[in-house]
Amino acid sequence: MGTVNGGISFWYAGSGIPAPREPLPGDTDADVVIVGGGYTGLWTAYYLKQAAPFLRITVLEARFCGYGASGRNGGWLYNGIAGRDRYAALHGHRAAQALQRAMNDTVGEVVRVAAREGVDADIQQGGVLEVARSPAQLARLKAYHESEVSFGETDRILLGAAESARRVRVAGTVGGTWTPHGARVHPAKLVQGLAAAVERLGVTVHEGTAVTAIRAQHAVTPYGTVRAPYVLRCTEGFTAGLSGQRRTWLPMNSSMIATEPLPEQVWATIGWEGREVLGDMAHAYVYAQRTADGRIALGGRGVPYRFGSRTDADGGTSAATVDALRRMLVRMFPAAAGVAVDHAWSGVLGVPRDWCASVHLDRTSGTGWAGGYVGSGVATSNLAARTLRDLVLLDSGQGQRTELTALPWVGHRVRRWEPEPVRWAAVRGIYAAYRGADRRESNGRSAATDPVARWADRLTGH
Ligand SMILES: Cc1cc2nc3c(=O)[nH]c(=O)nc-3n(C[C@H](O)[C@H](O)[C@H](O)COP(=O)(O)OP(=O)(O)OC[C@H]3O[C@@H](n4cnc5c(N)ncnc54)[C@H](O)[C@@H]3O)c2cc1C
Repeated sequence: MGTVNGGISFWYAGSGIPAPREPLPGDTDADVVIVGGGYTGLWTAYYLKQAAPFLRITVLEARFCGYGASGRNGGWLYNGIAGRDRYAALHGHRAAQALQRAMNDTVGEVVRVAAREGVDADIQQGGVLEVARSPAQLARLKAYHESEVSFGETDRILLGAAESARRVRVAGTVGGTWTPHGARVHPAKLVQGLAAAVERLGVTVHEGTAVTAIRAQHAVTPYGTVRAPYVLRCTEGFTAGLSGQRRTWLPMNSSMIATEPLPEQVWATIGWEGREVLGDMAHAYVYAQRTADGRIALGGRGVPYRFGSRTDADGGTSAATVDALRRMLVRMFPAAAGVAVDHAWSGVLGVPRDWCASVHLDRTSGTGWAGGYVGSGVATSNLAARTLRDLVLLDSGQGQRTELTALPWVGHRVRRWEPEPVRWAAVRGIYAAYRGADRRESNGRSAATDPVARWADRLTGH
């Protein structure tokens, strides 16, 4: 059998696409309406309903819960947060440390709540292993490790080539780092379980209901309008599709492949008994996990951005991207050379102009949002949701200021992306530069980061 291309993602290959919930039946009122049924929207509904069970909460989802990145991602539940260093520069080191501490706790929070709610998402807390595969990557990895430790992330350890290989034998590894703040998850099981959990709590979820406009206290759909004092936009990579939001967050594409289950002798060669989530230090980096059913799921950037902020059709992925990911798989794991790729897919994540995730509630209009996680949203969405909960409760007089409402990403504003064609040309140019730099670095002996990548880093604010 050939490679399945698209079909939302491999994560639905086992269960199939879930039966749709009823669309919105007509005009209605609620206390809170949430637009988007991914992790951000569902976690927000979950925590709000837990805190205030009397609230009437409605989730409106264009397709089905988990249609977006939440049902397609690499399953890295980890403590990375987009924009931490910028928040340190803007608000001071202690504020950024508070954000990081909250993120570290968030990994455990997701694991705990999943267990409490009976969500079996194949979670395994094996930490995060990042490997260097060239002298330039190694120099970056050491500098990264040093800066993390001096920031306060003292439980991140540096590994020599042999120590790293004892965890996962990735060909060409010259060193690695490992941190305990990470877990492997099955993304779709998590989001589907969460949708069921919020319904059990009494949240109303309508699927097949695309919101066409968000106005103060109104979410407008073709089937009717939901009026509510609070309208929360939780659409991350799809935000550009909403009226007035075209240049808010750039929908960055990421693509993945999943192999067939690997034979035992191949696993014996590779190792990976700890089920760490695995990445490298390339500029256009790779992320991977060993799935519960013994496959490798591996992702990378592929075609980074489509003109006019278009999104893919149900995860369809270009043949060139599938080939590139397969070549990367074999370069990293030569023992998997004969293994078939069962599935390839893509999805979009939201990238703000300054690469900083944020949470916001406008107290005048009651409109809020959370997102812009730039590829680290599996855990960040949970922290964002708890923060949105606290902001809504505070604003409606049902709660106090909390540690979360004081975090530096609350209320952060960022300028909009450039109009087309500048946006398209810039993103394509930057990723072409990164890919070229990765090629030169992996063929070279120099420990210096490629100058073209440094230039691209300056442009992207890294
Ligand atoms: C291929 C890929 C791999 C990734 N890997 C990782 C990873 O390993 N670790 C990590 O931390 N992060 C990863 N990410 C990012 C992470 O998955 C996202 O940041 C996170 O899932 C965002 O969740 P969300 O709920 O905000 O958005 P989404 O999950 O995208 O949900 C948004 C929802 O809104 C709905 N929607 C859109 N428009 C409308 C509308 N007008 N009306 C109603 N509903 C609407 C969509 O259908 C969708 O269901 C990855 C992303 C991709 C694409």
